[in-house]
Amino acid sequence: MPELPEVETVARLVRPGLVGRRITGAGVAWERSLGGMDARTFRRRVRGATIERVGRRAKWIVIDLKEGESARGHLLCHLRMSGRLHVEPTGTDMGRHERVRIDLDDGKSLFFLDVRKFGRMVFTDDAAESFAGLGPEPLSDEFSSAWFRSALKSRKRRLKPLLLDQTFLAGLGNIYVDEALHASGLHPLRRSDRVPGQKADQLREEIRSVLEEAILREGSSFDTFYRTPEGQPGSYQDQFLVYGRDGKPCRTCGRTLKKIVVAQRGTHLCTRCQPAPRG
Ligand SMILES: [Zn+2]
Repeated sequence: MPELPEVETVARLVRPGLVGRRITGAGVAWERSLGGMDARTFRRRVRGATIERVGRRAKWIVIDLKEGESARGHLLCHLRMSGRLHVEPTGTDMGRHERVRIDLDDGKSLFFLDVRKFGRMVFTDDAAESFAGLGPEPLSDEFSSAWFRSALKSRKRRLKPLLLDQTFLAGLGNIYVDEALHASGLHPLRRSDRVPGQKADQLREEIRSVLEEAILREGSSFDTFYRTPEGQPGSYQDQFLVYGRDGKPCRTCGRTLKKIVVAQRGTHLCTRCQPAPRG
């Protein structure tokens, strides 16, 4: 499932084809992708708007719309399991997994494709309301050492489920949590309030560097689903230290990597580099 680096990659790659373009129409092949709005209303809300900005919040791609100088709402796209965005000439046959199409004034369209249909392309007037309750962005200044130390202390939860919790920290998923915990030498079952301050700082730095490196490599593609808008796989999977490597030797110490289940998620670790918590 796409996490922060994959979503950031998609936002960056579709941005040049979208910013400044006016929306001339929209086609909806699978209404449920709209998250509850009917296709007619959706088309009416987006038609005539100009795309002002393409960004990201947590695992959402955020497309800000305006009309003249006034805000005209936002398109929020969540890729979930298998969603993809492509900018191609209007009329291109994108196959049977096309769910939503946004037509632009330069003869191209933004296509939202989704094999598994869990993804969303939602129109909203109020993005702030849609994102209320999300934790800070891990690559922002808000994710400071002081904030992280005190947030870990106050939560008293096990690290893996805490880091997956989008209300605690936005954008991380199973892959990058496992990678960051390994790089910091922290066991996924360690309680957050028992992580010493220096270790918390190390975890914070590893979360950032894992995400930054993954963005440089355009994310991770380990199944057939995630591809960039250019149709290419990411390459961060070649760098995985632990994710999906159970049964293989630890790249750090050589011990055979393990897979355990934490909060119903397959969790990959090295029991030597990441010692189990006492008790
Ligand atoms: Zn190891």
